[in-house]
Amino acid sequence: MKTLSILFATSEMAPWVKTGGLGDVAAALPMALHKAKQDVRVLIPAYPAIKEAFPEATLLAEIHSLAPSLPAARLLAAESDGLQLLLLDCPGLYDRPGNPYLDPLGHDWADNHIRFGLLSRVAALLGQEQSPIAWRADVVHANDWQTAMAPAFLHYGGGAASVLTVHNIAFQGCFGGEALVAGFGLPNFSWRFDGIEYHGQLSFLKAGLQLANQLSTVSPTYAREIQDEHFGYALAPLLRHRRDHLRGILNGVDTAIWNPANDPALPHPYAANRLATKRLNKAALQREMGLAEAADRPLFGVISRLTSQKGHDLLLTIADGIPHLPAQLVLLGSGDKLMEAGFADLAKRYPGQIAVKLGFDDALAHRIEAGADAFLMPSRFEPCGLNQMYSLRYGTPPVVRATGGLADTVIDVNEDTLADKTANGFVLLDETPHALWLAMERVSQAWQDKKLWQRIQQNGMRRDFSWAQAAHEYIALYQDAIASRH
Ligand code: ADP
Repeated sequence: MKTLSILFATSEMAPWVKTGGLGDVAAALPMALHKAKQDVRVLIPAYPAIKEAFPEATLLAEIHSLAPSLPAARLLAAESDGLQLLLLDCPGLYDRPGNPYLDPLGHDWADNHIRFGLLSRVAALLGQEQSPIAWRADVVHANDWQTAMAPAFLHYGGGAASVLTVHNIAFQGCFGGEALVAGFGLPNFSWRFDGIEYHGQLSFLKAGLQLANQLSTVSPTYAREIQDEHFGYALAPLLRHRRDHLRGILNGVDTAIWNPANDPALPHPYAANRLATKRLNKAALQREMGLAEAADRPLFGVISRLTSQKGHDLLLTIADGIPHLPAQLVLLGSGDKLMEAGFADLAKRYPGQIAVKLGFDDALAHRIEAGADAFLMPSRFEPCGLNQMYSLRYGTPPVVRATGGLADTVIDVNEDTLADKTANGFVLLDETPHALWLAMERVSQAWQDKKLWQRIQQNGMRRDFSWAQAAHEYIALYQDAIASRH
C-alpha cells in the first residue's frame, strides 16, 4: 500500500497545550500513524509553550499574506520523538500566554476567526501545488472548528483530500458575516447554505462538515447520536445529510501510561494473571483515603469533572444508600460548586465509608483505577470517554450509561455475554438515580461471586485499546477521502 502524506492540523497538542480530548488525540494519533510508516506532519500554532518546548526549531519558509485578512507568517520545523512538527509562527496572533482560545478574563480572543482562519488556510496550502515547502499532503486532517475551514479552502481552491474529525460538537466557531468571505480569499459563491454560510454567519465547523471529503468523530455510537437533535444541536440535519461520509473511530489510550503492570503510581503493580495483587492496592487506597480497611464490601471509584454531563447528580441522589448496600465510595473530582459541596457533605456524614477529594490529582487517579473494585461513569453523553477504558485495563469493571464511547466499550454482564467472553461491565437501563442504584446492586451481587467477578475483570483487561488499532482505521478513512475527492 502506498505511503500517504498526511497533514494533521490541530490547535492543541499534549503535553504542551491542552484544553480537552483533542490535545490527547493530537499527541497520540500522529505518532501512531508515524509508527504505522505513514509520512505524517503535525501543523500547530507556535504558541509560547510550543516555542519554549522547541527552542531549536528552524525556519522552513516565509508565508506571505494569503488573503486580505490573513497576515504573513513563518513556518518552522521541529521534531518530537521522530515525529515532524510544523510550527505556524505569527507572533501577532499566537504569542499570547495561557489558554489558546480565551483571554485572561475568560472571553474568546476577539480575533479568533483570523487566528484559526490563518491556521486553516496554511493547512490547506500545505496540500496545494503552491505549498511553500518541498512536501505536499495527500490528505489534510482537520480537527474541530479551529481547523475546519481547511476543507473549505481545499474545496474551493483545489488540492489534497480532506478529513474533518469532531471531538466536541458543542464548539462551532461562528463569526461575523459575508464580509469575511473576501477577507479569507474565498469566492463569493461560497456564501451559500450548502457552502460556508450558516444562518447569516460564517461557521467554521459547519463549513468543514459540509465540505470535507470524509468526516469522523471519536466513537461509532457518538457518530450516530450527533445525527439526532438531542446530541447534534442544530447541525444534526447536516450530519444526517452527510451520514454516508461520517464514521466513528474510537480513540485509543496511552497504554504505556495506563498499564497496571508497570504503573509507577501504584504501590503494587499487577496484571490479568496476577489479579490477587489488586487487593493490596485496594487496602492501600482505603488507608490513603481514610476508609475502613474492609475487604468484605465492594469499593466504587469515581474520577471526573463534576458536571451534569457526567451524571454524578444521579449518584448524589442515591449515595446515602451506599454504606447500607454495603459498599464504599471514593470520589476524586472538581467542577460544579453545588455538586462539590454535595459530595463533601456526603463524606462528612459517612466517615470511613465514603471518601471525597476535591481537586485534580493524576497519581491518585491511577491509584483509584487500581484500588477500586468498580468504576462509576453514568454520563448523559460521552463522545468517547477515557476513564472507562482505563478502568477496563485496570480490572475495575465500569458502570455506565449506554451512550457514545461508553456504549462502544462497555458490554453489560448477562448470560450471553458471559458465554461469549465479552461481558466486561454494567450498563444502566435508564438516565435515572434508580437505574444507577439497580446497577450498583448488580455489581454488589456479582462481586460476591469471586470466580464470576474475575471473568468480568479479565474480559475487560484483554481488550485492545491501543492507538495502533485506531491508526489503521484512520488510514482507511484517508484512503476513502482520496477516493471521494476524485
Ligand atoms: P472528559 O475529557 O470529558 O473530562 P474523559 O473520561 O474522556 O472525560 O477524560 C478525563 C481525563 O481526565 C481522564 O484522564 C481522567 O483520569 C482525568 N481526570 C478527570 N478529573 C480528574 C481529577 N479530578 N484528577 C485527576 N484526573 C482527572
